[in-house]
Amino acid sequence: MTSIRHHPSDELLLAHAGGWLPAGPALVTTVHVEQCTRCAARLALLQETAGQWLEDTPASALHPHALERVLAALDVCDEPEPPASLQGPPPLPAGMAWPRALAGLQITPWRWIGPGMRYSRVRLAGDDAFVFLLRLVAGKYLPRHVHTDREFTQVLCGSFHDGRAQFGAGDFDVADSTVHHLPVVQSGGECVCLTAVQGSLAFDGLYGRLLGRLAGLS
Ligand SMILES: [Zn+2]
Repeated sequence: MTSIRHHPSDELLLAHAGGWLPAGPALVTTVHVEQCTRCAARLALLQETAGQWLEDTPASALHPHALERVLAALDVCDEPEPPASLQGPPPLPAGMAWPRALAGLQITPWRWIGPGMRYSRVRLAGDDAFVFLLRLVAGKYLPRHVHTDREFTQVLCGSFHDGRAQFGAGDFDVADSTVHHLPVVQSGGECVCLTAVQGSLAFDGLYGRLLGRLAGLS
């Protein structure tokens, strides 16, 4: 993909390289890196730098939960939740493939949450981050909302504009508690996004609050 305009910051990539991101945001970042040659190169450089820094840093100076988080991330890779009622990942718009980083994870069937709006939960073992896929047709929007913490999003196909900028396939976004936005899907097909939310979302208006409750987002 050559038209990617929105990338994770170097600070975020460094946290990813060090294994310090919770599993949900780490998964969204991994999917971006899989789709972005620029960030793959920067991550490789940062991993090399972080590796050198770890070698030069006494273990006592490490983040207190660094090992725990690395082990939790490994657990996610090695032992996904048993797929008790898994019916296979839900279908995608024509021509779109699942990112490799989602292989083996439990992804629920699409659930209707409103006209032209579907939602699917991505389950990660041992993580309190909320990870989901949203699939919206052109012209639909996620009601205006704010976040108590951070919301990490990778656009898998289609595009949306949230009043700050346009985000297309391959773009990455982090919205924190200062962002109060209303993402609207642009013309030209459906939009599918992978999102990890830390904390919760607070929607404006009755419809937004109902939608949030229905999808378990707030
Ligand atoms: Zn990138």
